[in-house]
Amino acid sequence: MTILVIAEHNDAQLKSSTLNALKAAFELGSDVDVLVAGQSCEGAVKQAAAVAGVRKVLVAQGEAFNHCLPEALTDAVLAAQQAGGYSHILFTAGTSGKAAMPRTAAKLGVSALTEIAGVISADTFKRYIYAGGVLATVKTTATPVVASVRATSFEAVSAEGGNAAVETLVVTPSSRGFKFVSVEEVASDRPDLLTAKRVVAGGRGLFDEEGFAALDKLAEKMGAALGSTRAVVDMNLVPSETQVGQTGKIVAPELYMAFGISGAIQHVAGMKDSKVIVSVNKDAEAPIFEVSDYYLEADAVDVIKELTEKL
Ligand SMILES: Cc1cc2nc3c(=O)[nH]c(=O)nc-3n(C[C@H](O)[C@H](O)[C@H](O)COP(=O)(O)OP(=O)(O)OC[C@H]3O[C@@H](n4cnc5c(N)ncnc54)[C@H](O)[C@@H]3O)c2cc1C
Repeated sequence: MTILVIAEHNDAQLKSSTLNALKAAFELGSDVDVLVAGQSCEGAVKQAAAVAGVRKVLVAQGEAFNHCLPEALTDAVLAAQQAGGYSHILFTAGTSGKAAMPRTAAKLGVSALTEIAGVISADTFKRYIYAGGVLATVKTTATPVVASVRATSFEAVSAEGGNAAVETLVVTPSSRGFKFVSVEEVASDRPDLLTAKRVVAGGRGLFDEEGFAALDKLAEKMGAALGSTRAVVDMNLVPSETQVGQTGKIVAPELYMAFGISGAIQHVAGMKDSKVIVSVNKDAEAPIFEVSDYYLEADAVDVIKELTEKL
């Protein structure tokens, strides 16, 4: 078995989801290569080569791979597949993986497995269905197996201890009617929601801007990332990138605090793997209490204010 992991990175650094995908790869076999496609991705290549157990790092570098547009990334993956004949191609379940994986699978004439959460054997995997409510065991007949890896279901492998060979991959990107123009990044001193150790999240029980301003202060004091439900994103109380859940981000911090969140299945799908879950809700029957390690039946805004004062 030979496995190709497609690195998620920002040129300078590998994203931690790549280390989670590598864990899934090592559960499948020991011949594991990593593909890094980017414009000036020397930093990410160096980090990938330093991961213990990685056999080889394939590098597709150049302007065509700026910001990892899915079409160009797909070209690179197909070139790697042609050269290496891998049995498994694993993507991260981040933005670039989600966009490039189905394109790759379609080009290879196989169906893709989204967000595997466990490896049972070379062709049998676990993955969540029904908004995370059921963990299904699925068997695939596809060759190669093309899958994305749910980061929160696999511990990250150590980023050190290796010294893999680095090889240039020659890719001729197909011509397209579009190109990368620009990106606007929101500057923030806060930890990234996907990798934060602590997340404080608010729902409709915080009511308004004032409630979320209080939550923001608490997040700042705790050095936590801000999370939210879709309900409050739809109310324009918080930006959409804070949404946690089935159609938002999947997170698994050491501490997840949920204030005024009911615990709808679609929200829980995005945070139930958190190590410790604390929730505050004024309804004793709130479903969020069922997945919480600690819960408090109280007014969420009052608790946030008191906690912020005392910390
Ligand atoms: C296809 C689909 C995908 C979806 N994807 C997502 C997703 O990714 N993420 C997501 O979050 N949702 C998602 N949803 C929406 C989801 O079903 C819920 O509607 C949403 O999560 C509810 O948000 P909420 O908990 O903020 O609001 P509500 O369900 O209205 O809950 C508010 C809670 O606040 C409590 N409360 C009220 N006042 C106070 C107070 N003063 N103090 C303390 N508690 C108080 C209430 O008791 C209640 O439990 C999706 C829905 C669909 C159909």
